[in-house]
Amino acid sequence: MSWRSGFGLIPGPARILAALAFVVFFFATFDHHRAIALGTLTGLAGGTLAGAFFLLAGYVYADAARRGMPPIPWTALAVLIPNCVGFVLYFLLRKPILHPCPGCGRGVAPDAAFCPHCGQPQMNLGLQPSGKES
Ligand SMILES: [Zn+2]
Repeated sequence: MSWRSGFGLIPGPARILAALAFVVFFFATFDHHRAIALGTLTGLAGGTLAGAFFLLAGYVYADAARRGMPPIPWTALAVLIPNCVGFVLYFLLRKPILHPCPGCGRGVAPDAAFCPHCGQPQMNLGLQPSGKES
């Protein structure tokens, strides 16, 4: 997956929060370090980190939803566990992306034999029997 399609997945409110966090952190840090020449640089770094945190949280929310995982608990887990361990856990434990069911169009896990919503048998090319045995 490219970076651009990943960014496109992030919901609008998360992007707005990220922009706000950047501005708030930038000015807070800038004000705090006004005396030193590196104030602007420190503000930029702090603001970028704060913005990236909200963007990542938004990405986890949207990504969990399209993988059939409950998005709110996973986002809370990723945000609340300190030192970004929650984000690392999410990326280690996340399920594969669901593919649309040919019968009803809802998301089905790639290893499922039948759609859990409508019962339509799924065409899993990798898991089909080789046939021609009789
Ligand atoms: Zn279905």
